[in-house]
Amino acid sequence: MKTYKVESFQLDHTQVEAPYIRVADQKHFVQEGEVRSEFVVSKFDIRFTQPNVEFLATATIHSLEHLLAENIRTYSDHVIDVSPMGCRTGFYVILQGAYTVEEVYELLTTTLRDVVEAKEVPACNEVQCGNYRDHDLEAAKKEAIRFLSHSKEFLQTFIRIT
Ligand SMILES: [Zn+2]
Repeated sequence: MKTYKVESFQLDHTQVEAPYIRVADQKHFVQEGEVRSEFVVSKFDIRFTQPNVEFLATATIHSLEHLLAENIRTYSDHVIDVSPMGCRTGFYVILQGAYTVEEVYELLTTTLRDVVEAKEVPACNEVQCGNYRDHDLEAAKKEAIRFLSHSKEFLQTFIRIT
């Protein structure tokens, strides 16, 4: 297999078992100057569906993206980004700080419980979204419930145990 620079291209997608929460990358930065500062950025792979088996519909992943992006910021000021994967099997969450899977599990499941209770998709209009007609709140809630139905232990394990 050809090797690539992207971390997730090194992941064997046939060996994972979704749903799961996995550390995709963690980078330590040092800034030299008058005041030396150090900071860490952590990237997590939040997989909702089994790669190459099941995919989130575009309206579902789009609504989940809006709901996660808005609600997760209620619980953390360290969120840099929540983005859907192009393969439509999950999301990347990028945080400032040396987060653990355990901490992201708490943050994500708390956020998903808000998603389940949502009455509307935030910013679902022509001004604040690039494709506002492509949304499905009920399907997004169903995916949130499905993710939450898995145990903490299951979600923290991503390698298939055969
Ligand atoms: Zn949008």
